[in-house]
Amino acid sequence: MKRTRIVELLNSSNLGETVCAKGWVRTRRGNKNIAFIALNDGSTINNIQIVVDLSCFDEEFLKPVTTGACIGVTGLLVESQGQGQNTEIQAQEIEVYGAADPSVYPLQKKGHSLEFLREIAYLRPRTNTFGAIFRLRHHLAFAIHEYFNKQGFYYFHTPLITGSDAEGAGSMFQVTTLDMNHPPKTAEGKIDYSQDFFGHATNLTVSGQLEGELGAMALGGVYTFGPTFRAENSNTPRHLAEFWMIEPEVAFYEIDDNMDLAEDFLKYLIRYALENCRDDLEFLCKMYDNELIDRLNFVINNDFVRLTYTEGVEILEKSGQSFEFPVYWGADLQSEHERYLVEKHFKRPVILTDYPKEIKSFYMKQNEDGKTVRGMDVLFPKIGEIIGGSQREESYEKLMKRIDELNMSTECLWWYLDTRKFGTAPHSGFGLGFERLILFVTGMANIRDVIPFPRTPNNAEF
Ligand code: ATP
Ligand code: MN
Repeated sequence: MKRTRIVELLNSSNLGETVCAKGWVRTRRGNKNIAFIALNDGSTINNIQIVVDLSCFDEEFLKPVTTGACIGVTGLLVESQGQGQNTEIQAQEIEVYGAADPSVYPLQKKGHSLEFLREIAYLRPRTNTFGAIFRLRHHLAFAIHEYFNKQGFYYFHTPLITGSDAEGAGSMFQVTTLDMNHPPKTAEGKIDYSQDFFGHATNLTVSGQLEGELGAMALGGVYTFGPTFRAENSNTPRHLAEFWMIEPEVAFYEIDDNMDLAEDFLKYLIRYALENCRDDLEFLCKMYDNELIDRLNFVINNDFVRLTYTEGVEILEKSGQSFEFPVYWGADLQSEHERYLVEKHFKRPVILTDYPKEIKSFYMKQNEDGKTVRGMDVLFPKIGEIIGGSQREESYEKLMKRIDELNMSTECLWWYLDTRKFGTAPHSGFGLGFERLILFVTGMANIRDVIPFPRTPNNAEF
């Protein structure tokens, strides 16, 4: 018989119908005469109750039906006697697909710590918590495509393997097929990358932005949505070595348009989650973060505060707060500074603009003052920076001058610089860290808990 997903069975009004459900046993309880099996198939946080009249089943046959086992059940869909669910199934036939020996299956009880579940990340999708998080992840990924598609932006696929190391040499993962034990050498004794697969050194991308700009200069508005890799050895609850980033890049956008887009985009996504993932959000709110839903509603119903970096630093200097890292004009703001502005001072999301050029990338549009650039970071409660973006420098001369100041090599960047020679245009874009968004929307505290298989220093087993 064809299987129906549990989410549909729980909302069905076809009582008395024979149905088939398949899933994993969450719990089994009962007495000598009757067994109650809570079955979950991942389609919803809620389980369907299977009622088993033990006089109709062989005891030995039902023995493997324990927590974690996978079964299929055919039976009558009836109104539930229990509280909190509409329907349940009176089992007529049970098929056991796979047992989960209780003496070794790690997910026996409820309420395992998140730390423990991280150690068994390959099984944690089977818990209520991670089911909820990964469903939310899916819905938000879908909403991102929906948003940009409605706005007329094109999904532009930028490469994962890149020959440019412009964005942050030290923090890139190298890609090579050379034999690491016996790499070919040049006359000067350096590794000879001309013999490598691509004929030169390559890395995994840290951002699709530079290539995204090429797309924007042809298609108008584009966005990327893909994995990015940063070998930064920072063991924080907000950094992964492999994370997903969404990077819109838009021709003819000035910094204000860019801020409007970022704010509208974030609000759209949060509203989408509230409207489409209610059960999962309510579960996470109840279990981990009582203020979660209020916080999400607050963000969609209030304007973000917009101010310059210089104004932000003044507020921090006057705050009388003692920070671990000192604040002064020119300092790169740390998460503690960002969160002070958002959580203590303004009590709402903040967009900071016009940063000192020294702490921002070479491609940001230079302001008239010669000191600041048109960067913008969106700062969120509990997260700090969720988006980093800017208006891009469209003038070839100014961009080259900055590249020279920074002593950067243009060897791997000539193609990027060509965009400024051929039909350049004002344009802007930003990068939203997908996992930081999921952190905010789920109320989770550690970024390792919002991606199925986190990649962090010393951790890439499964
Ligand atoms: P941070 O200062 O927090 O390290 P960043 O300034 O290096 O971030 P950007 O280069 O501006 O980050 O990247 C854009 C966005 O990508 C950030 O706003 C953030 O949401 C996300 N992001 C950056 N690095 C990471 C990481 N290691 N893990 C997860 N998300 C990240
Ligand atoms: Mn940034």
